[in-house]
Amino acid sequence: MATSESQYENALARVKKAFDILKIDDQYFEMLRAPKRTVTVSLPVRMDNGKIRIFEGYRVQHSDLRGPSKGGIRFHPEVDMDEVKTLAFLMTWKNTVIDIPYGGAKGGVIVNTKELSLNELERLSRMYILKMAAVLGPKRDIPAPDVYTNPAVMAWMMDEYSKMMGHNVFGVITGKPVELGGSLGRDKATAQGGIFALNDALKKLELKPTTAAVQGFGNAGYTFAKFLFDDGFKVVAVSDSSGGIYNAEGLHIDQVWAHKQKTGKVQGFPGAKDITNQELLEVDAEVLAPAALAYQIDKENANNVKAKVIVELANNPTAPEADEILHRKGIFLIPDILANSGGVAVSYFEWVQNNQGFAWTRKEVNERLKQKMEHAFNEVYSRAQKHKVDMRLAANIYATEKMVKVMKLRGY
Ligand code: GLU
Repeated sequence: MATSESQYENALARVKKAFDILKIDDQYFEMLRAPKRTVTVSLPVRMDNGKIRIFEGYRVQHSDLRGPSKGGIRFHPEVDMDEVKTLAFLMTWKNTVIDIPYGGAKGGVIVNTKELSLNELERLSRMYILKMAAVLGPKRDIPAPDVYTNPAVMAWMMDEYSKMMGHNVFGVITGKPVELGGSLGRDKATAQGGIFALNDALKKLELKPTTAAVQGFGNAGYTFAKFLFDDGFKVVAVSDSSGGIYNAEGLHIDQVWAHKQKTGKVQGFPGAKDITNQELLEVDAEVLAPAALAYQIDKENANNVKAKVIVELANNPTAPEADEILHRKGIFLIPDILANSGGVAVSYFEWVQNNQGFAWTRKEVNERLKQKMEHAFNEVYSRAQKHKVDMRLAANIYATEKMVKVMKLRGY
């Protein structure tokens, strides 16, 4: 299969394979082909210099068949509608795999946040919610953080929506600061879920790796690297958007973090060799976690990947043509819709707590997350065995079974 220019068409083609294996009537696939709703808004924001600048924002609600649609908002200069549609589609499958009562959605704004002041970022965040409010709500569509958005952005967005409604609506958004209706454990949830999934995989594979490489040093990547480091792993390579660093003896992740806080990047870290983001994917490490952007592993470099296990903490980090190469090489890949589903799982716990007006302990949150991850992993793994397919296709098969059941129960 050739990789299409469109990420969305590629994502559809991956899921179509599951429908074919399960021999499901095409009409059900057709129902999921087009998103339920796509919204594009223009966002006029007054900049610090007094002038208005217009940004473009998107929200795609792919499905609400299993519950309100749910997914993050990404602020990135290269966001476009095709990407947001793809990520919304992936959220539908992710939320189904991790078994939370949501459909899928995603939002995006074309912006380089590094060029904005804090005040400009706040005005942009508020404007996004103002323009999208009509399609959002705790029972309709619930955003959350994604690439280059964080709890502070969620707090402004919640505040703006609450002002419009005339009362606090904590449940309209997740990933909020703990002081404002956020959940304990949400900040580390994506990485924590990835660790649970990795441990489940290592048990099945009877592997005890000691080396790892992590691409991306944002919330998911940094926290994952830190968990591995604290667990005694040699984390030999990490990277951020400016490039990576490598040390065969392992990097001291706390010191790398401090270096990044000081200099703005991981490169230049004393005692490590600077490498590119592409080189990072090919280093000698048993565990590889792509935790940055889409299509990092492709048909050009898949053959050079040396890892035994890949944990997809990013969304869509592997191009379709690479799937087959990695599978043929015997690499065990935990796909994004399973590996990074811990984030949205704890978002769901946050929303439940908001609806109940009751706060859980960190221990409760983590125990529930572990249960959810284990259950999802086992369901996916058993389909991989049954159908003799890779874990991505197995995850799509598992989610497809559930989606089609819901469509039929709804009367379609
Ligand atoms: N942006 C995260 C993801 O891609 C979290 C979404 C959420 O918590 O709703 O899964």
